[in-house]
Amino acid sequence: MQELHDAPLAPLTTFRLGGPANRLLTATTDAEVIAAVREADDSGTPLLVIGGGSNLVIGDKGFDGTALRIATKGFELSGTALELAAGEVWTDAVARTVEAGLAGIECLAGIPGSAGATPIQNVGAYGQEVSSVITEVVAYDRHTRETVTLPNEACAFSYRHSRFKAEPDRYVVLRVRFGLEDAGGRSAPLRYPETARAMGVEQGERVPAASASETVLRLRAGKGMVLDPEDHDTWSAGSFFTNPILDEEEHAAFLARAGERLGADVTPPAFPTGDGRVKTSAAWLIDRAGFTKGYGTGPARISTKHTLALTNRGDATTEDLLALAREVVAGVHEAFGVTLVNEPVTVGVSL
Ligand SMILES: Cc1cc2nc3c(=O)[nH]c(=O)nc-3n(C[C@H](O)[C@H](O)[C@H](O)COP(=O)(O)OP(=O)(O)OC[C@H]3O[C@@H](n4cnc5c(N)ncnc54)[C@H](O)[C@@H]3O)c2cc1C
Repeated sequence: MQELHDAPLAPLTTFRLGGPANRLLTATTDAEVIAAVREADDSGTPLLVIGGGSNLVIGDKGFDGTALRIATKGFELSGTALELAAGEVWTDAVARTVEAGLAGIECLAGIPGSAGATPIQNVGAYGQEVSSVITEVVAYDRHTRETVTLPNEACAFSYRHSRFKAEPDRYVVLRVRFGLEDAGGRSAPLRYPETARAMGVEQGERVPAASASETVLRLRAGKGMVLDPEDHDTWSAGSFFTNPILDEEEHAAFLARAGERLGADVTPPAFPTGDGRVKTSAAWLIDRAGFTKGYGTGPARISTKHTLALTNRGDATTEDLLALAREVVAGVHEAFGVTLVNEPVTVGVSL
């Protein structure tokens, strides 16, 4: 297992932000992952698990403990059953399933990071979420000190959330198992209007899985949502805020505020979540509160391609990023009475 001391963490994150870790371990087998976690727990050392670093905001002071980079490898496809080691690169795994003609994760192409992190926030995009295809998650349970296999129902998946996110210091994901679909090379039914429109089909239709993936990658690239080291719009964590979910009372208050501010005929986006609540769009709120694409004059700014992505223009610090995030949260709250919540995981800092 590789071990470094006083190791910079910024290069391990897509924001390229954050100070060093006292110790950085890189584990390439499940046994190494478990040994590293046990050792940290035995000695009472704080532990930070890092996959691809694409959903992490690490404080400028760094991490006073052991950072463990998961670099395990394993792609096993048997019929429609797929098992991925946590360290597998997600985009490569998606491409291989599409090549194999399988459906289920083709619209999750282009999402950076590791396979093992996908259950953490129930990764989703363009009408698909991993929770609809994950069958089991194999994880090391730091409470019982055992490896456990959690079936889908035990993972408590919801919008950008899961049991793993709810209990952040408990599970280290080792393997993720998926049940994909063999639809003769076709995609799953396209659920997202923008993808269907871009492909010239009706929502709910199937298209060749490879075309669905290519279309999603093209749409994402246009929004700075595919990593490109040359493009500062992608020095981000993707969406910085989750879409707020409002109960009936909150939604009514929000509509009233939006009407006062923008005129009675304004229709903010509203997607019923099926439990009496309504999901609205964080991007809409940010934009209508006056934080448009490219907003900011400092080294941390809103992406020029997507209102929801906060970006490092090259020489930002985490404090610069947080200052911008706080400004957006305060501005949206003042305009609409809605409090935005950050999607990326913060380490040693908070909004
Ligand atoms: C340009 C861009 C676009 C993005 N688009 C999307 C999108 O469309 N949809 C979406 O949902 N997300 C998106 N994201 C966010 C991010 O890519 C995903 O959340 C991804 O799953 C994070 O994976 P990671 O390996 O980089 O996790 P990290 O950033 O390394 O870690 C994130 C969290 O997961 C924990 N973690 C990581 N691996 C493990 C493990 N094996 N066991 C236990 N905990 C672990 C970490 O401790 C941390 O708390 C985007 C990010 C970027 C930069």
